[in-house]
Amino acid sequence: MNSKHVIKDILNFILVDEKINLYLLNSNIIENKDKILKYLNNGYKVSTLSTMKQCEVCMSSAGPVSYFTDGYWIWPKWLNHYLTEHNIELPEKFLKKMKANNFEINKEFVKKIIENEKTFVE
Ligand SMILES: [Zn+2]
Repeated sequence: MNSKHVIKDILNFILVDEKINLYLLNSNIIENKDKILKYLNNGYKVSTLSTMKQCEVCMSSAGPVSYFTDGYWIWPKWLNHYLTEHNIELPEKFLKKMKANNFEINKEFVKKIIENEKTFVE
């Protein structure tokens, strides 16, 4: 695999001025919420930082600023907090990708993507 590959950074979709876009919170019933949480937890870890993010909504710790990927999207560990506690609305394209993958992450595929020097994060 050596063609250009773009991984989408979830932060470009959920942050406004480096803060969570509050309009995305408290969305109505989230379909497959458990499966989505499991998917986010099973991501391939690409960076580990022990720095914690404080949640600007409930002021508790939202979790570490470590990043995970499925080869298509990249997201921080703390995203789970916003989904569990505040029903954050995730990009439709991300949800579709999870569904298309049957909520499973192909770690072999992710490894190839990570090792591909033509992989970019946007
Ligand atoms: Zn919170």
